[in-house]
Amino acid sequence: MEKFNPWEMACHQLDIVAEKINLDKNIHAKLRNCKRALIVSVPIRMDNGQVKVFEGYRVQHNLERGPAKGGIRYHPNVTLDEVKALAMWMTWKCAVVGIPYGGAKGGIICDPTKMSIYEIEKLTRRYTSEISIIIGPEKDIPAPDVNTNPQIMAWIMDTYSMNIGYSAPGVVTGKPIDIGGSQGRMTATGRGAMFVIEEALKYLKMSPKNCTVAVQGFGNVGSATAKFLYDIGCKIVGVTDVSGGIFDKKGINIPRLLEYIEKNPKKTIAGYTEGDFVSDVKKANAELLMMEVDILAPCALENQITKENVGKIKAKIIAEGANGPTTPEADEILHKNGVFILPDVLTNAGGVTVSYFEWVQDLQSHFWELEDIDKELKRIMTKSFKDVLAIAEKEKCDMRLAAYILAVSRVAYAVKLRGIFP
Ligand code: NAD
Repeated sequence: MEKFNPWEMACHQLDIVAEKINLDKNIHAKLRNCKRALIVSVPIRMDNGQVKVFEGYRVQHNLERGPAKGGIRYHPNVTLDEVKALAMWMTWKCAVVGIPYGGAKGGIICDPTKMSIYEIEKLTRRYTSEISIIIGPEKDIPAPDVNTNPQIMAWIMDTYSMNIGYSAPGVVTGKPIDIGGSQGRMTATGRGAMFVIEEALKYLKMSPKNCTVAVQGFGNVGSATAKFLYDIGCKIVGVTDVSGGIFDKKGINIPRLLEYIEKNPKKTIAGYTEGDFVSDVKKANAELLMMEVDILAPCALENQITKENVGKIKAKIIAEGANGPTTPEADEILHKNGVFILPDVLTNAGGVTVSYFEWVQDLQSHFWELEDIDKELKRIMTKSFKDVLAIAEKEKCDMRLAAYILAVSRVAYAVKLRGIFP
């Protein structure tokens, strides 16, 4: 198998849409590159007294439509190319939902599951200090991603604030509510995904009450997506996480599973006794992806639906909670097979949308009720789905290409309006 390179995949996706919309060659060349990429070394004194040096990145892909926005990932497999791809996808995502940001992403090569809380705090603070030359409420606003959470965002905010001498809550989103976080941010990506899926079901004349769902990844995005789909009546028949998978044809009781995870010190699904548990992650994922379900929601990492396994996929709808879970080759085959794909740049845009609300609240020091957040999130996600669907119908193309047509056209227009400096 060829080695998967997310940056090449992201550029390939851009090239396809550039051809389709006859994108100006100069603008295409600009968008095919990241504006800036910072590589930092992050030395930390570990609990055993030894100094370990980690490598971290912060990449800003494009700032034409506003300050940069994008999460920070802590994972052993982080690479500069992965962070660049994720930054480019953030540019498109913000443009699809029409929020005034450009795309960015950050990451540190580390395994936080093998680090103490003190080591993670030191890693976060030193990394924040190193990237503080390019982040800030008006420049680039990080947020949570894989293996990062509100506590880590609190340390980022505190470190940045200490360095500048005053509190700057707007430097990061996904913070705890008590220090300037927003109501509804924790579950926003999953809630947004549910709104998009609901619209897709209406369009396909399917009812949530008759739908079965399989969810890969049960972290921030996967667990919230599962919970909101459960709440509207879907039957969740399979979930996997890093520890394995649970399968239950009768339907998994998601609130009970969430309660279990909350109490489990490892915060995984391992050890849950209802349904069948498969502890080999590879086997569990292979089984999950092949399930005969209405909706398959990959909510873990990139490169999960590939040309190797795509032939076995039986789901009618794929809702990409994760970024980049489907390779372009697999995408083409799914489209030919009539699978309705809700692309990542649309499906998981609820997170950055509520991050935008959080940032606006921080800048104004005026905070909204959860009801207002949810109403506005629903409005934006529903409208974005309809905008993308209208393009898909007009251009007779799939939803991914339609989302890219919308996003790239918006960003290209901003580049055209601003011109090339100097
Ligand atoms: P997270 O760290 O909260 O959760 C990741 C989940 O994936 C965990 O349950 C983990 O156990 C599981 N996982 C890891 N490896 C796995 C494997 N091989 N098989 C099955 N499960 C596996 O991360 P998250 O924030 O939920 O992010 C998940 C995806 O969603 C990423 O692609 C991220 O970029 C994307 N995303 C996140 C947000 C957000 O707001 N957090 C927003 C948009 C997109």
